[in-house]
Amino acid sequence: MKLTISVLKADIGSIGGHLKPSRAVFEEVKNFVAARSKGLLIDYYISSTGDDIAILCTHTLGTGNAKIHQLAWEAFQAGTAVAKKTGLYGAGQDLLKDAFSGNVRGLGPAVAEMEIEERENEPFIFFAADKTDPGAYNLPFYLAFADPMYCSGLILSPKMSQGFKFRIIDVSYTEKTRVIELVAPEELYDIAVLLRDTEKYVIESIWSRSTGNQAVAISTQRLHNIAGKYTGKDDPVAVVRVQGEFPATGEILAPFNIGHYVAGFMRGSHIGPLMPCRLNTTVSYFDGPPVVTGAAFSVKEGRLSEPVDVFDHPYWDFVRSQIAQKASEIRRQGFCGASMLPFSELEYGGVVEKLKQLDQKFVLVD
Ligand code: MG
Repeated sequence: MKLTISVLKADIGSIGGHLKPSRAVFEEVKNFVAARSKGLLIDYYISSTGDDIAILCTHTLGTGNAKIHQLAWEAFQAGTAVAKKTGLYGAGQDLLKDAFSGNVRGLGPAVAEMEIEERENEPFIFFAADKTDPGAYNLPFYLAFADPMYCSGLILSPKMSQGFKFRIIDVSYTEKTRVIELVAPEELYDIAVLLRDTEKYVIESIWSRSTGNQAVAISTQRLHNIAGKYTGKDDPVAVVRVQGEFPATGEILAPFNIGHYVAGFMRGSHIGPLMPCRLNTTVSYFDGPPVVTGAAFSVKEGRLSEPVDVFDHPYWDFVRSQIAQKASEIRRQGFCGASMLPFSELEYGGVVEKLKQLDQKFVLVD
């Protein structure tokens, strides 16, 4: 059957700063979706990562469907009302426009969707990251889908030996959607050239070359491109199909043991290591470190199994303690150099005003 998996996610307010949505806000979103799901959704799963709430749902209406997007938009609005009433921090911060206009793209919430032909058994992983941006997935998914050092299936599985197609989006171009399609392994170096620049080029989707089927969908919204100023980080979600013609679950997870440095962390203005954490993990140290969680599902005729927490295993405790060390190391140099984002990424913050003032005090001397 043709099935659509949609994830819509927003930060609509949290407790004690940017830590976690309150139970009341979470329940409001959940109850709203439950009440409105009849005849629209086959199944759904509501979760939080850091200060974000995500609505994962299955249906048969295709991607970008107005009814599905409106349901999420109104659920986030209902949650925002509770957040405002109870004085949560940043209430409604990701809802950048007042009115729904047929599709939440461009309104603030992050969206990752794919329409698939459901396989006989259909396992997938839902990733949610907080205190970072969509480029955070560039490295792990490049390694999982294009590098046999991480994905042994590329050399062991005949279904995968033709490689994968990467659809990469230029997120700095805001007039329209500007994309390029490149294939691995032939264009590996071209893919790497783009993906190294995580603030400009972001993987939007990945496709199997042997079957033409979509493996990955990532939210690629840039909030400051929409709002014209810094509003919060773009905290990306992703849906990744696994097994069969796609990498195994463990091959997708493997590159997350790097704890690679990503943009985000405190005030969305720093560099920190991406830490794979248990579901519903909050943020803490320096409003971070940037966190990614993963829930694995099987789906049958659109019905979701219970989630399995992919980073809830003793192995990842070891990884987390190594990554915590990386976080401490880069924080030791405070504001200086590589620990903070380049000026081009800070241009929507207060630092611009400060630099304008200082600029007038510069004098030219011989
Ligand atoms: Mg967030």
